[in-house]
Amino acid sequence: MSKTLVMKFGGTSVGSVDALKSAIQIIRDAKKDWDRVVVVTSAMSGVTNLLLDSAASASHGKVDSLPQAAATLREKHFNVAEALIQNSVKLNQVIAEIDDLIFSLVDLCKAIAVLGEASPRAMDTVASLGERMSVRLLAAVVDSAGIPAQAIESTEFVVTNAHFQNAHPDFKVTTEKTRGKLNPLMDKGIIPITTGFIGATPEGAITTLGRGGSDYSAAIIGAVLPADDVWIWTDVDGVMTTDPRIVREAQTLPEISYNEIAELAYYGAKVLHPKTIRPVLDAGIGLRICNTFNPSHPGTRLIPSVKSNGKVDGKVIKAVTAIRKQRLITIEGRGMLGVPGVAARAFGAVASTGTSVPLITQASSEQSICFAVPAELAHTVLSSLEKAFASEIADEDIDRVWSTEDISIITVVGAGMRHTPGVSGRVFSKLGNDGVNVLAIAQGSSEVSISLVVDSADTENAVKALHELIIN
Ligand code: ASP
Ligand code: MG
Repeated sequence: MSKTLVMKFGGTSVGSVDALKSAIQIIRDAKKDWDRVVVVTSAMSGVTNLLLDSAASASHGKVDSLPQAAATLREKHFNVAEALIQNSVKLNQVIAEIDDLIFSLVDLCKAIAVLGEASPRAMDTVASLGERMSVRLLAAVVDSAGIPAQAIESTEFVVTNAHFQNAHPDFKVTTEKTRGKLNPLMDKGIIPITTGFIGATPEGAITTLGRGGSDYSAAIIGAVLPADDVWIWTDVDGVMTTDPRIVREAQTLPEISYNEIAELAYYGAKVLHPKTIRPVLDAGIGLRICNTFNPSHPGTRLIPSVKSNGKVDGKVIKAVTAIRKQRLITIEGRGMLGVPGVAARAFGAVASTGTSVPLITQASSEQSICFAVPAELAHTVLSSLEKAFASEIADEDIDRVWSTEDISIITVVGAGMRHTPGVSGRVFSKLGNDGVNVLAIAQGSSEVSISLVVDSADTENAVKALHELIIN
């Protein structure tokens, strides 16, 4: 059977002439080693934000920045096209196609301004323009480099529900359509170059899979073809042991398991969209993260589960991350003791504000409930809780509902923790020795991670201290 590779290029990987030169070389090399190659692209870096900002301004009736936005988009795309496409007929053609899309941005924004509102559906139509431009550009430059390639919009085969801005694919229909559209191209030796991030409802309305969703697109396409491997080309060498801006010795992890990266993605590592994992894991497909700007680096390989005792090079702890700008909310009162349903009502009140909770601490007594929320939502959450428990507060069954100042959630990740006693002991002694005060603790039920809360001023010290447990 022939081997199939899906490669996804992120925004910076298609964001400049140099990046595209590198992407072309990467595609050329892949074509030598793989019988069939599919390329998925993001919008050029900065484009999706620019599009969405234009639509948001238009919804407030502001359209004066539209000519500037249109000019920026032309410059960004046309500069690259002019640098990398020699044939003037081809060049003019791709420029005309992209220009049409820029005109439709202007039209859409004017319509939004007239209506005074941008529906999620309209926002998706606007957001889709970024990938619809970049896919034409990338296909044209690859084809001009002598590698047969053809642009095809994923709206033709990624079929989703109508949950605009966060659409969910219908895998059954998508499987059939994707094979139907992409296989004939690949049979002819042509590389299909397709849009990440977007799909369409069965009726043909354009949807998006959520911000950063191009990774997910690559996983969906890889899973349904099916491909043998999915490679995510980005601008870092892979998943690192921690943020290199905090710890200079941070290193790229050669391997990480799906469980482990799920914890990292959840806790703010920006490398991979969290939804990417499920389809490739379910389909048993390999996943690799690699750097367009350092293509000979092996990057990070995702592996189904950690081998033997879970240790890689004898290290149990693999990575440390921090999510900043959170606050801890505590509900406390002796009247809560033994009263069923308090937690359910508390989280119901939080959910009603649309806030998701990144961490709940293990309460040792029934007299308090404590959890984290993003700092900017703390006030909203507090008022919602005060309303929900107004009568308990009046009766003094609940003494107070309060929030800390900004805190950070530090997460230590490593699948080996499951089999290694004493890891949390080491974590907390290390922090103690380094003078970091731990405000709260939560251990994921997966035992792949331990999370703890520190004052925001202690964030860097905590990360540095815990990172030493990896390298030593
Ligand atoms: N262009 C989209 C975004 O910026 C999707 C992606 O880049 O993954 O969210
Ligand atoms: Mg991304």
